[in-house]
Amino acid sequence: MPDNESTLPGIVENTPRLGLDDRFTFQCGKHMDCFTKCCQGVSILLTPYDVLKLKRGLGINSSEFLDQYTFVMQSKEKKIPAVFLKMSDDSQVCPFVSDKGCGVYTHRPWACRMYPLGMAEPKNPEQAAQRFYFLLKEDLCHGHDTGAGCTVREWIADQNIEPYDLNQISFRQLMGHPGWDNPELLTGEKLAMFYMAAYDLDRFRSFVFDTRFLEVFDVDEARVEALRTDDVELLEFGMDWLAFSLFGENKRMKLTKTAKPRRVPVTEVAAPAEAGL
Ligand code: SF4
Ligand code: SF4
Repeated sequence: MPDNESTLPGIVENTPRLGLDDRFTFQCGKHMDCFTKCCQGVSILLTPYDVLKLKRGLGINSSEFLDQYTFVMQSKEKKIPAVFLKMSDDSQVCPFVSDKGCGVYTHRPWACRMYPLGMAEPKNPEQAAQRFYFLLKEDLCHGHDTGAGCTVREWIADQNIEPYDLNQISFRQLMGHPGWDNPELLTGEKLAMFYMAAYDLDRFRSFVFDTRFLEVFDVDEARVEALRTDDVELLEFGMDWLAFSLFGENKRMKLTKTAKPRRVPVTEVAAPAEAGL
């Protein structure tokens, strides 16, 4: 299951594009001689919502999940941290696979749900209509051109991908911001802020509730209550806070009238070891 970003240019040039109503023929399951071969030696990019679902499904907090199961790579130019699932050191196998299959099947990441489909779309979410799909054909996978056919739309419904797309919209909007063109944007503390609010949600929750954060920002009571327990709401809120903090956009973030906006340093909450932040 290759991550889209690293392999996209070549695939997009050489592979037929599929729309939602185009059909493809594929089957997968325990009866296949290649069963779980796709769960080793792969590079799986995790979205913030993937991290949220996996840490919750495993019953651990986000820092534990990130420390134990992921590694971080930063893009060369813009230093944006990307979180990947960490394969085992010796055999490069996914930590969740066994001979029975995926041990986190109901929480598996977007990339695993989509496979063998890949997706490409413009960075700007307003141009989402230009999204298209393509088939990832690898020698290790014997599921192509066998079994019953389905449309891309049917595959997306069958794999329950819609919530993963919906809960990814705010992150995609943030990542599509033209302000990222500044290569100096994510340095020092801003890098730590981004990593925490996007991926290390339980630490972000501590940051919101255990520092002066709520004295500085005017957040309505209903939202504050939701942030205490609702990870999806917290992720949305984190995207609002990053848009405000990184790009000065304050459509959904307000400073309190009375508080002097002293910056709350992210270092007030312990930094994640793995990310080297
Ligand atoms: S998360 Fe599940 S489906 Fe994805 S690579 Fe790991 S074992 Fe395979
Ligand atoms: S058919 Fe492809 S996706 Fe399914 S188990 Fe085999 S390698 Fe994995």
